Order: sequence, then structure tokens, then C-alpha cells
Amino acid sequence: MAYVLGGRKLLYALSHGYGLPSLRTLRRYTAFTRIMPTIGTISISDILHNIEEVVFKPRTSAGKTKLRGVNLMIDETALEQRAVHFRHNNQVGGICWRHAPAVNLLLNTYESALKLSDDIKKGTAHLANELTVVAASCFGEGGTYPILALPSCKGLNADDSQKIYETVTEAWDKSGAADKVGPIWSWSTDGAMPRRIAGYRCFLSQKLSPTSPIYATLASMAGLNLYTGCNQITLDFDYKHIFKRICTLLRSTQGIVLNNGRVINPAMLARYLIRLPQHSPESVQKMLYPHDPQDVPRAIELLEAVVAVGELDYGNMDANTCGDVDALRLLGSVIKAILEPFTNVHMSLTEQITSLSTFAHLSFTLFRVSRTQYMSNQLYGDSQTMVKNAIFCLAKQQVLDPNEPFYIFQVGDDPLERLFGKLRMLGGHNTAMSYAQAIDRLGDASDLQGAFMRNPDLDQSERRLNMSRSEGVDHLSMGSFTGNLIAGSCHLPERMGRRSR
Ligand SMILES: [Zn+2]
Repeated sequence: MAYVLGGRKLLYALSHGYGLPSLRTLRRYTAFTRIMPTIGTISISDILHNIEEVVFKPRTSAGKTKLRGVNLMIDETALEQRAVHFRHNNQVGGICWRHAPAVNLLLNTYESALKLSDDIKKGTAHLANELTVVAASCFGEGGTYPILALPSCKGLNADDSQKIYETVTEAWDKSGAADKVGPIWSWSTDGAMPRRIAGYRCFLSQKLSPTSPIYATLASMAGLNLYTGCNQITLDFDYKHIFKRICTLLRSTQGIVLNNGRVINPAMLARYLIRLPQHSPESVQKMLYPHDPQDVPRAIELLEAVVAVGELDYGNMDANTCGDVDALRLLGSVIKAILEPFTNVHMSLTEQITSLSTFAHLSFTLFRVSRTQYMSNQLYGDSQTMVKNAIFCLAKQQVLDPNEPFYIFQVGDDPLERLFGKLRMLGGHNTAMSYAQAIDRLGDASDLQGAFMRNPDLDQSERRLNMSRSEGVDHLSMGSFTGNLIAGSCHLPERMGRRSR
């Protein structure tokens, strides 16, 4: 921990000052986690190695044996465009996986180096500018396990994404992880286009079989889409990204149009947000036109303000204001229904599911009436998919172990984004990283996580208090929630409305 968090100099000081083992001693007597880099194209054997090193070993040594539902997450982070040499197999890494099979990555002779450099110049292969990471997380537990780190180029399409989904899913099965850790329940992404197309292709391909143990529960729920991928895996879109995308709509001139034709856009919102007691023209301006539209706490602040505007008492109104307020009240209740299960830590699981179900039904109605004036096809589909996934995961938890809590905030790909944050932190002031550095840092992050997993009392991030709600949503942990979240306490069909015959 001293080495990974504080660096070589801190470890040197501690080993001289307090007699801790030196880095050289550590290297000799302990095994640092090594993520297998992908050199050439994606391969099952690399993933199998990573599952063994990153998932099995630390979980075994931390005594984690309970079977969990697994969420696989995929996302990418920036990579410095640079070729790197891997000594273990004398190959060149950092070349995009998609186009690497076209070139020879073995460095046998000086000529092979020249040939590779030439191929890159000609564009036969590319220096990767992105790192695509697939990581696993477990429902009911902390911990993020990177099991694939692919150097990628921008030119990836849906077929490439599909290849990643299929290869990792297959590797998880082959490794025996389904029996050691748990079955894959969901695949979460942020909603980038190629991944969305591939996701709908892979995970809405077969209808849930009547022989499935979750069929009886889910088939009786009105309007629920019963299509999944193999092994009943469902697709998920990260909820924080959905919040941001709703804000992007609200901040656009076209805005959101509900069934009474009122356009809810920044011009209209500005007139009403200012009525909220805690807001000034400056703060309203900041919410509607933020410097960084990707800022999640700011997005949640805007959504919460719209909910509050919908709940204000307007007294006597003229007809025009009445129309606006009607639209704002309806929009406020739609937003509240999707937002609260993730931000209100006092809700019970039953209340959370009721809320998401409310969102799904309201949103369905509004989309039927106003179509893309209400939301884009993609955002509508992704948000419904997110709700559906939460319901499938809960149904699976009820079968796996109804006495365990189910944490709705654990859907989505947030743990992976936090892992990227850690990689940047481990790089100190230098956020740029080559592929080799990224591989090292992923290993370091895994070692650090393993140490905390074995000694949870040393982890400060488990204890974060005194945060405002919109800031707090970025730091939620299982301990933040106070309501009854026991999976078996929620009767699903009642929350969704029964399917009529
Ligand atoms: Zn490429």
C-alpha cells in the first residue's frame, strides 16, 4: 500500500525509518498482481489468466466465498499513443487489437521493428489511443475486478463490440467463475453507439424460457420486456449517464415536450427555477449552462431543481402559467421517479422498485404520445432497459438468496469509472499513460483493492459523511443506505402491475 499509494520514495523512507520490507524484498517474496496485456487480438486465454489472478486469488485470500450476481462493465479511457515492448514474450504492445492481426508484433530482428514502424505509418495497424476495459463487480459486495484491458482505436464498430461481449462471456463460463464467484447477470455500458447496437443484438436475442426460475415472477409483470441474452444476461445502461442525457435534453433549445405541447427548455426553465428559494439568477444560469455538462453532481442538482419546481405551490395562475406548471409537474414526477431510487438513501427496496416502475409506465405513455419530442429513441430505450435490468437483477437475487440485501445503485458501470479515476490517481500528476503503464496501474489498483478487502477497517472510502445529496451520489456505498433492502421483502409483480390476460 505504501508503494502503490505513496511511491518508491515513501516505501524507501518507511523501510529505513520503520523497518518495513524494501521494494526489492517485496518483489522477491510477494507476488504482485499482473494483468495480462492483450497483444494482438482479443483472446480467451488472456481473460482466463486475469480472472484467475484478479478475481479468484484476492477473493480467496479475503475469504469471500458467497455466491454473487455479477455485473460486467465495459468502458474506455484515454491512452497515450505509444508502442511499448513486453519482455515476457518479446512483443510490441499498444497496437490496437482490431487491426493488430494484420501485422507482425514479434521483435525478432531489427528488420521486424522497421517493418512494424512502416505498417503503422501506412495505417495497416494503429497505435491505440484508447484503453477498453472490461471489469466485473458483484452485487452485494464492493470490489472492481478488471479482466480485460484492450488497446483500441477509434474505428471500432458494433461487430467489434459484439466480439468483446461474446469473448468475455465465454471466458467467464470457461474459467468456472460462474460457480466460484457467481453467474453474469448483466452487462453495463455508458451507451456509446457501437456498444449499444451490439448490446441490443447480444442481450435481447431470446425470450425468457418458462422453465426459468425467474419466469413466474417476471412474466406476470405488465409491459416487461422478457428478452435477454444467453444465460438470461440482461443489458444495462449506466443510470448516471442517463441522468446526464436527460439534462442534455433539458439544456437544449428543443427541450422536452410532454403531452400538452409545452416546450421545457432552458428559456422556460429559467423563468421557473428562479422561484426556488435557494436559487439566484447566477445559480440558475450555472445549472442550465454549466462549464462542464458531463459533471454528474451538477446534472443531479438540475434534475432535483426541476422536481422541486414541479412541487412548488403557485397559488392563482393565469392560463399560460397553468399550462407551464402542468407540464413542469408532470416532468417533475417523471424525473423524481427515475432519480430518487439512486439518490434517496432512506427508501426501502419496495419503494425504489415502485418508483422505477412509475418511471417506466409514465415514460412509456409520454413516448407514445410525443415520441422523439419527449426523448430520443436511444435515451427512451436505454432508460427503459436500465429499469428492466434492475428488475431482472432483483428477481435473480430473490432466487439466489432472498435474505441478502439488493442494492439498486450497484447497477450501471460506475465502479469501472471509479477504477479509471484510481488509475489517474496512481499516475500522480501525470494523467497520460502508455499501454504498459496502464497494465501496471491496473495491477497496482488490484493489489490495493486486495489489501483493503482483507483489511476493510483500513479503508477510508467506506466512511464518508457530511456531503450534500447531489455531491453524495458520487460516493455512495452499501453503508449509505438505511431502508429495508432485503431482496425477498419486495413483491415484484405488485410493484409493476399484473399483466392482464
Ligand atoms: Zn485500429
